[in-house]
Amino acid sequence: GSGSGEDEVKTYTVATEPNFHPFEFMDPETGEMKGFDMDLIHAIADEAGFNVEIETMEFDGVLGGMRSNKYPMAISGISITDERKKEIDFSDKYLDSGLILVVREDSDIQSIEDIDGLKVGAQAGSTGELYLHDHTDAEISAFPEIVTAYMDLASGRLDAVLYDLPNAQYYINENPDQGLKTVGELLQGEPYGIAFPKGSELVEPVNEALATLKENGTYDEIYKKWFGE
Ligand code: GLN
Repeated sequence: GSGSGEDEVKTYTVATEPNFHPFEFMDPETGEMKGFDMDLIHAIADEAGFNVEIETMEFDGVLGGMRSNKYPMAISGISITDERKKEIDFSDKYLDSGLILVVREDSDIQSIEDIDGLKVGAQAGSTGELYLHDHTDAEISAFPEIVTAYMDLASGRLDAVLYDLPNAQYYINENPDQGLKTVGELLQGEPYGIAFPKGSELVEPVNEALATLKENGTYDEIYKKWFGE
């Protein structure tokens, strides 16, 4: 480029799936994306000195968009896995999460050992869906929007849902009338990371900004806002 390109503040598109409370969801009143991830990525952008523009899509598209270099960055409660690291770069982890089984309150299912042959829902392209394929003989249904899976579980069309604990817990707490509960232990610990196409030059500045936000208390403020103490 020419001229004063160095002073120009860059704007990067950030890919996300918009149905993952409390990390990313649409505020029905303002039409704006809100949540832990949204606050975090805006704080990182402020710290690192760039602008972000949020673009929403299905979760499969978020990961596909990193593999095909369609978007420069993604934040979407994305679990850092060895398999994904072959094709996608990740920031340092920003939160510890993991998979939990959700069933109806009156269900006999007590753990992942009990779901073979049963109908189990998962978010399409998620670690939950992969876990079901790799470790169970459940009859798997993959949903582009997890809320549909929770509703099918409540109405009896599914026997269980396997998904990220913070989202499952949030949904159960916010919708007590649905009669759902979690069972068993956390099935596998999964750290969340910000994702980038392989070789991205943004990994380092994002990691530096994340470290600063952890040191200066901003990360803790965002965490408290969405998860309490
Ligand atoms: N953490 C899960 C994964 O990375 C699910 C993320 C999501 O649905 N937003 O596959």
